[in-house]
Amino acid sequence: MRAMIIDFHTHSNASDGKLAPADLLQEALAAGIEQLALTDHDCVDGYLALKSSQAAADEGLKLHAGVELSCRWHNDTVHIVGLGIDVEEPGLVAGLDQLAQARQKRAGTIAERLEKLGFEGALEGAIRHAGVSQIGRPHFARWMVEQGHVSDMNAAFDKYLGAGKTGDVKAFWPELDEAVSWISGAAGIPVLAHPLKYRYTRSKLRRLVRDFCDCGGQAIEIYSGRQLADQTEQLRKLAKEFGLLASAGSDFHGQRDYGPTLGVDVSSFERDDSTWQVLAARAVS
Ligand code: AMP
Ligand code: MN
Ligand code: MN
Ligand code: MN
Repeated sequence: MRAMIIDFHTHSNASDGKLAPADLLQEALAAGIEQLALTDHDCVDGYLALKSSQAAADEGLKLHAGVELSCRWHNDTVHIVGLGIDVEEPGLVAGLDQLAQARQKRAGTIAERLEKLGFEGALEGAIRHAGVSQIGRPHFARWMVEQGHVSDMNAAFDKYLGAGKTGDVKAFWPELDEAVSWISGAAGIPVLAHPLKYRYTRSKLRRLVRDFCDCGGQAIEIYSGRQLADQTEQLRKLAKEFGLLASAGSDFHGQRDYGPTLGVDVSSFERDDSTWQVLAARAVS
């Protein structure tokens, strides 16, 4: 079977990835990726930088606009990827603006909480690590590692920043239906990101998928990062049952030492209705 490599979930240093958008594009070309979506957390700055570069078109790589929105479902944070969005659509632009402000306020709250635990200077440290990037918990984690407060990023999340810990602040995110409507309103495909990462029971995941469909969700990542074959089968079945398009991505953040590498070979999912088919068709019309 001919390999068909795509990646519809990637991060640049416009959010919490390591690579500049142009470097990510070079890696994508080297990895033989045919279609790429840059899906930074809550911002499209990286995509805008790439869009104006000629490299993608020259090499025959199809670049799609994308984003990964943070939102709330009941009392949890879930992530919705938007693919093929019109980045100039006013409703989406306003939504992204709201999220940028939410991230700023949230950083202040995270810092206050960390300072109560005795970590002085957390806000300044995280801001320094974020630079011009959209600020998030990974920037706090990098500062904590730098200061020797923890041994590595994982420890920072396990002890202080991960789900249910002091620095897990989600009060500022929009609701699931709102995030989905921003993407739909901008002609994008709303995709439920990394469904297994929430560590839900099967019945809770089905409730999330049901709610996602009810508010206009159209696709689900059947493959995210490193995943076991039976997990992919489980998600393919779920997609079929709910009439969702299949999507796939690495959730690449540019780490070279750990974490997934760029690109997913989707040739074995050829018969699934998928986001890569829909977007490829859109790109030529
Ligand atoms: P935020 O966008 O601020 O809510 O931060 C969430 C991000 O933190 C995720 O998108 C991951 O990139 C990152 N993250 C979550 N857990 C870990 C971990 N254990 N180690 C490193 N990065 C993590
Ligand atoms: Mn991230
Ligand atoms: Mn995510
Ligand atoms: Mn992601």
